[in-house]
Amino acid sequence: MKKELPCIICPMSCHLEVEMEGDQILSISGNTCPRGVAYAQKELTHPMRMLTTTIRIARAELPLLPVITSQEVPKEKIFDIMEAARHAKVCAPIICGSVAVSNIADLGVDLIAARTLDEVMEDGTARIAGHQGLETI
Ligand code: SF4
Repeated sequence: MKKELPCIICPMSCHLEVEMEGDQILSISGNTCPRGVAYAQKELTHPMRMLTTTIRIARAELPLLPVITSQEVPKEKIFDIMEAARHAKVCAPIICGSVAVSNIADLGVDLIAARTLDEVMEDGTARIAGHQGLETI
């Protein structure tokens, strides 16, 4: 059986053709570099993805915080992560690159804040992420 898939490793988007017998890969062609072979092998046996999503954040200037997984996750676990992220809520302030949710869905993977959000107080002052004390905005 022949499977076709685009390589998503770089913008060249090589058109990969994979000859398979059952679950076994017999040959891979269409790749311009060895990374295409590695990608096809992984994609057809144990596909992994970086996942980006948003989680709720309290007391921030925005209601949602963009987050990204700390590492690639098994493609079949994406729904579990999205469901756990749907129930997650953090509090501002938070710094870009810090752990927003640790061990999401018990997968040993963290959700990392993809932007900094300051805490906005009811009186219009803000607690700037990464700074001590209050600063007026
Ligand atoms: S096979 Fe190599 S050159 Fe082609 S898209 Fe994949 S990484 Fe890029």
